[in-house]
Amino acid sequence: MGYIEGHSRDQMLLLPASVDDYVAADNPVRFIAAFVDDLDLDELGFGRSRPKATGRPGYDPADLLKLYLYGYLNRVRSSRCLAAETARNLEVIWLLGGLRPDFRTIADFRRANRAAFKPLFRSFVLLCRRLDLFGRELVAVDGTRLKAVNSRKRNFTRQKLAGWIKLADERIEEYLARLDLADRAEAEAEGAARRAAVLTAKIARMRERRELHSAMLADLVASGESQMSLTDPDARGMATQPKVGVGYNAQVAVDARHKLIVEQYVTNSGSDLGFLAQTASAAREVLGVEQIDAVADKGYYKGEDIAACEDVGVIPYVVRPQRGPAINEGYFAKDEFRYDAREDRYTCPGGQRLDPYSRSQKNGHVTIRYANMRACRDCALKPQCASGTRRSIDRWENEAVLERMAERLDARPDIIDRRRETVEHPFGTIKQWMNQGAFLMRGLANVNAEFSLTALAYNLRRAINILGIPALLRAVQA
Ligand code: SF4
Repeated sequence: MGYIEGHSRDQMLLLPASVDDYVAADNPVRFIAAFVDDLDLDELGFGRSRPKATGRPGYDPADLLKLYLYGYLNRVRSSRCLAAETARNLEVIWLLGGLRPDFRTIADFRRANRAAFKPLFRSFVLLCRRLDLFGRELVAVDGTRLKAVNSRKRNFTRQKLAGWIKLADERIEEYLARLDLADRAEAEAEGAARRAAVLTAKIARMRERRELHSAMLADLVASGESQMSLTDPDARGMATQPKVGVGYNAQVAVDARHKLIVEQYVTNSGSDLGFLAQTASAAREVLGVEQIDAVADKGYYKGEDIAACEDVGVIPYVVRPQRGPAINEGYFAKDEFRYDAREDRYTCPGGQRLDPYSRSQKNGHVTIRYANMRACRDCALKPQCASGTRRSIDRWENEAVLERMAERLDARPDIIDRRRETVEHPFGTIKQWMNQGAFLMRGLANVNAEFSLTALAYNLRRAINILGIPALLRAVQA
């Protein structure tokens, strides 16, 4: 039995009469075209949205934007690959009407319009809101680290540079000592001159490298930064993510109903601390609600940030991390000391009262320390409680905010699981399915543009799965 065979390449075929016949009614490209055509690109900040009256005509930004949306939706992100698609991909040929911009034009469009991609992302979020795709009750906030175009070798911290300078000094000293020995050896000794020449060259190279590292350290100190990256100056070493190495931190707020991203942006901070109120309040605004619950992991546990949430209509849920010397040593945790707000005192696990005895302030953060030296002195529980003469408990002056949050968490233990289910979906999809664990561009503004496109493509894919293309088309054509 033979195989199924294709046509001969020379055979004349009756192909469909138009490109449109190749694109099914429920093909996502139809929605991409309709969505972009419905946008006011000028208002969103895209340049050259109105054609110039004079000069050589350029490409319509709407066409280039359609190409990018198609590319991000289909795991084609580089300008060269997108340019190749314009010549061989029938969906792209349909989308662009046969236009074939070169890769430079495509790359320049993304770079020149980088500030417009965030408003573009918001436009789609607003469309999803019109389509009632958001629950608008709970958002999960989280951050993920994505690789930058900067290798680990080209990232330097002050510590790393100081270490290398010290190492160079040691090596130079060692080479000089060996050179001295070689000089003292009989000049005629076999190979002495050659060894001396090798050592001299090594010393010169080491001095050159030392000078370079010293200059870099001086620049770093003068800039007030803790590290520098040579390929992408905005990228930072992500200490908690060794696999990422040097990269960025993408923050998202995801609505719990359909796991759609409501708010997103990229920072170069290695930590999530301090980003909860900012991210959740932006999500609340876009969702158009007075108040919203926001859940995040322990990495967001920062008193001031949690207090700020309450001021901007966000009800935070963040589990207190078990950290500090008492936890490390295996002593009673702070949670085991009960606070009485009326009396302003703690009751310890031994049933003793701990009263305020000192107050300190650091960077505006006021802390009150509670203790009871007399009770601790003779306490039988001290081996489980403290290593010194007494146990003290520090209380932030606004700690009532954290206690209210702990009560809310006790009342809704399921919310922690909902956080995981909600945020893992977009991050998993973006990194695995969309293959976007690394940025292609350099600079914070550029990677923000890239991530806006990534998040928009993720939302687009979700909305297509939930509603289907015909419903989405009706929504933009209404
Ligand atoms: S050591 Fe002090 S704080 Fe700890 S249980 Fe005993 S009395 Fe209470």
